[in-house]
Amino acid sequence: MNDRIAIVEDEPELAALVADYARAAGYTADVFGDGAAALDALRRDPPALVVLDLMLPGLDGLALCRALRADANPVLAGLPVVMVTARVEEIDRLLGLDAGADDYLCKPFSPRELVARIKAILRRAGRPAPVIVVDTLARRIAVHGKTLDLTPTEYGILAALARRPGQVFSRAQLLDLAREGNASLDVTDRAIDTHVKNLRRKLDAALPGVDAIRSIYGLGYRFDL
Ligand code: CA
Repeated sequence: MNDRIAIVEDEPELAALVADYARAAGYTADVFGDGAAALDALRRDPPALVVLDLMLPGLDGLALCRALRADANPVLAGLPVVMVTARVEEIDRLLGLDAGADDYLCKPFSPRELVARIKAILRRAGRPAPVIVVDTLARRIAVHGKTLDLTPTEYGILAALARRPGQVFSRAQLLDLAREGNASLDVTDRAIDTHVKNLRRKLDAALPGVDAIRSIYGLGYRFDL
């Protein structure tokens, strides 16, 4: 599933803040500071949604949104857009001009509110919110919005597995990945199996009946969700 959010914003600090919140909610975030460059990138590889600032160098948000709506590619013509403006009066003007955005937000906005709107739009578009969210900043993992109670080693193993669903990891690989950002971890090859067993029990409480961590005989483990 495409979980990419494009953030078109020429204020680097605001763009980075929005990207952090989007990533913490389980999305992949790409930042563009220039309207024309953003349009090129969106055409090459359409994301799931665009957060679009109105005042931009190159091509402004209104022109960019109209270019998307007029695109021959139906994916781009229907791409969800959240337009961000600096003044509340601009929203009325944009509505009058039929700018074509799905939602409008005025600065300063709460990044939490923006993420809530992104989720609502994607839900309406038939894309469910990510089931499992790995928050690498807080080193927390949530399933359906509920944070799992994990030890640091369990976090390391599950974060590694969940970031690459479908890929088989050997015990040795999981051991290395679990130690990333946590060099003091004292885990043996065999102990990985015990940690996986505990992880399965915790995941099963959050996702009953879903066998999210599969054992691949002779190889290791794979995450399927
Ligand atoms: Ca701007």
